[in-house]
Amino acid sequence: MTTSHNPLRQFFRQPAIYLRLPSNGKHWPAGSLEIPANSELPIYPMTAIDEITYRTPDALFNGQAVISVIQSCVPAIKNAWHIPNMDINAVLVAIRIASYGHEMEVASTCTACSHQSDYVIDMRVLLDQIRVPDYGQEMSFGDLEISFKPVTYEQQNKSGMLQFEQQKILSTIPDTDLSDEEKMIKLNQALRQITELTINVISKNISAIIAPGIVVTDADQIEEFLRNCDRSVYNQVRDHVINLNQETQLNPLKIQCAECEHQYEQPINLDMASFFDSAS
Ligand SMILES: [Zn+2]
Repeated sequence: MTTSHNPLRQFFRQPAIYLRLPSNGKHWPAGSLEIPANSELPIYPMTAIDEITYRTPDALFNGQAVISVIQSCVPAIKNAWHIPNMDINAVLVAIRIASYGHEMEVASTCTACSHQSDYVIDMRVLLDQIRVPDYGQEMSFGDLEISFKPVTYEQQNKSGMLQFEQQKILSTIPDTDLSDEEKMIKLNQALRQITELTINVISKNISAIIAPGIVVTDADQIEEFLRNCDRSVYNQVRDHVINLNQETQLNPLKIQCAECEHQYEQPINLDMASFFDSAS
């Protein structure tokens, strides 16, 4: 364990880069971030323990590994579960650069001819391209005004896991020995559950619903509203939230196949083991 009087302390890892958060500290719950006066967070390279933690598949699945590594490499972040979704990729890219340098190799298979090749990404460019969705934009429906907020890493992770479970259920239905009618019933049940889940996730993106004389910020009441509102209102709110969340995604990698010259895009997802695997 760390001891404060260890004379080797001065030789411990040092910050490798400094990161200005896309959110600039906005949307973080009190106590979850200690932002320095110049707004630049020191980012430390991973330790051997961090690297092992990140590569453990079980821990990765529930998000705990990502949390431990972030809190180890970015001590200014006191509770990484509370990171607003717009900052997650920036923090992970910064840790990647601090630990392995700014180049990352990505393996890709051509969508036309299946030719496999490795491509090198400059992570600094990726960092510069990260966009900040405008959560200040409100939607109005007659007297109702809806305002939005980013979800935290915790909420994002929870809904990701549930979605994964649902997809699994959906994909097993066609292979079961059930009759067609029973399959339809199962399929409808699964789709219903997915819609329920989506409503829950959308409600987490709403900070308040305002009408003359009322301001509702209670999460349960907001979710209940979404369950009972006109479907056209719900669909517009859902699309708006999906657009906001899409803006927090990294730009996909634009690839031209070396074999057949076909051009295609490959999404970059950092929240997985392969992010660090390719670096060793
Ligand atoms: Zn090709």
